[in-house]
Amino acid sequence: MVGVNSSSDISIPESIANELTTLDDESLRDVINYAQSLLAERLPQTSQITEEPGEEIISIWEHDGYTLVTKKHSCVAGCDDCPHGPYLYRVRAEQSFVNGERTLHWSFLGRVEKSDC
Ligand SMILES: [Zn+2]
Repeated sequence: MVGVNSSSDISIPESIANELTTLDDESLRDVINYAQSLLAERLPQTSQITEEPGEEIISIWEHDGYTLVTKKHSCVAGCDDCPHGPYLYRVRAEQSFVNGERTLHWSFLGRVEKSDC
């Protein structure tokens, strides 16, 4: 049996899998770093910003190194004031050194005042 692949979640081309098994530890780490840098370049930050249940994203502004997002929330049960907000958040992407995944850190900046113009 060539290319032991115990996890069915992992699906990579067989030629690459075979290639990887021939690498030493250091080269494998280089491959991981390379793949992570490729991913970081490919993933626009806002593609990871999605609406959660009960949320409504009003606007997304891309900035250098961070993204500003305004969104409204609805309570789980729902109340007379629903939806709440809109609230302004500053979102930064941070890459984990453990598994290379990019996670978003949301900082609550405050409520956006309605403009009646
Ligand atoms: Zn509510």
